[in-house]
Amino acid sequence: MCEYTYSNGKKCRRKPLKGSKYCSLHIPFEEGELLYGEKIKYIKRRAFERALERGIRHFEGVQLYDVVILNKEFDYPIIFKNSRIKRIIIASSRLKSLTLIETVVDYLIVADSQVDFLYINGGSAYGISICSVSFSSSILIRNSSVRYVMINSTEFVPKEVTAEEEFGEKGRMAGRIELSNLKDVRRIALNSKYPLISKIAGELGIKLPLDKKRPVKVHALNITGVNFDESPRFKRQVRVFINGFSGQLTFENLSIPGHVEIVNSRVRYPEFVHVTIHNNLVLRNTKLYSDENWNLAYLPNLLAELNVYGFIVIENCQFNNPYLAEVFYRIARTTWEGSGDKENADEYYYLEMLARRKRVIQHYRRGPKTLRKTFKLLEVLFEFLFADLTCKYGTDWKRPVFLWLSLVIFAFPLFYALTNSVTPVSSLMDYVYFSIVTATTLGYGDLHPIGIGKVIASIEAIFGMFMWAVFLTVFARKYMR
Ligand SMILES: [Zn+2]
Repeated sequence: MCEYTYSNGKKCRRKPLKGSKYCSLHIPFEEGELLYGEKIKYIKRRAFERALERGIRHFEGVQLYDVVILNKEFDYPIIFKNSRIKRIIIASSRLKSLTLIETVVDYLIVADSQVDFLYINGGSAYGISICSVSFSSSILIRNSSVRYVMINSTEFVPKEVTAEEEFGEKGRMAGRIELSNLKDVRRIALNSKYPLISKIAGELGIKLPLDKKRPVKVHALNITGVNFDESPRFKRQVRVFINGFSGQLTFENLSIPGHVEIVNSRVRYPEFVHVTIHNNLVLRNTKLYSDENWNLAYLPNLLAELNVYGFIVIENCQFNNPYLAEVFYRIARTTWEGSGDKENADEYYYLEMLARRKRVIQHYRRGPKTLRKTFKLLEVLFEFLFADLTCKYGTDWKRPVFLWLSLVIFAFPLFYALTNSVTPVSSLMDYVYFSIVTATTLGYGDLHPIGIGKVIASIEAIFGMFMWAVFLTVFARKYMR
């Protein structure tokens, strides 16, 4: 009888291998190799496959080289506990659930399969790759040491739920991918290439469908309390790469030594709680969604909750509401300001102000009209005319120069000429001359306006002075220290 004792105190009772106290599943790698050499791999694989065929679903304390589940269907859960498995590959199969508890694996690859519930707790894995998997419950990876987590083309496909379930805990928990309390992590990536996985599968004669790339569509992706590999050798490689994700995204209690990239995604409620990114945060080709309640509850804290020591880059992103955009552009601006990069800081400042203006308009347009609201909207119009149109909120000194020149040299002379309101004139150049003299408030008096010309000239004088002041301010702000 096999000597292995289960955690409930019972013995294994399977037939031991010749020359050992343990059965083919429980015999440690070293002992097996000593006794049977390379053949032990085959012995163990056969033993495991036979056990599966007999309907055994709970494996405790087993030591296996390769667990390969290919083109299989199991409507019961498969559980590994306190086990040591070099490689688990599940491909083109349907599983009710796969659970690994306190189990050490080198690689776990689940590809092109339907696994309703995937649960890993405790233990460790070098690489976990989940590719083209559909699940109806959740994918939970908790309390483990994992180097690489790769999730590609994976989708939450809900089962028909009864009303009862929908209101219960179960309904709310479903559709989540949770990575929590992990340690030694070097990379968490969605839809990224990971050639090693195909190589491993290839060694076992399995061709994985790694090329077809669909977005990872789930209710929520929570990355919580993950400790990354801080060793100086790998620190720079540490990365969180989210590509083609659709769903709610939460980062919580993280200190990430490398970059965080979120690209080609549709993110609902992007939440960063107590997050420090020691390198850059890049948002690219991404749509971000939130709603009013969430904005009020969460957005004001974002500035304090998200610390980025590098830069925040927001490129080609869309926000469904201006407040969300405003806050994101603001935190981006502060990262560039902190490093003294005024050029980029100005760009984000301008985007921030545009978003703010949109938010104010949206806010005061709502509900019945009141005098106060009308004034506020007028204020916004003024802001647009005098702060945005003239100099892009003080970030563009070329604009006042261009405006000044084009209006003073072309527009105003044209008005005077059309209204025939300057005297005495002998040629068209006199209108231009009069316009410049007015705009610079020189006022020689050799030419003077008549009729409507007096109004135009007054406006021009004010315009000229105002733009001059704007130009000086913006120019000084940009170049003088
Ligand atoms: Zn045994």
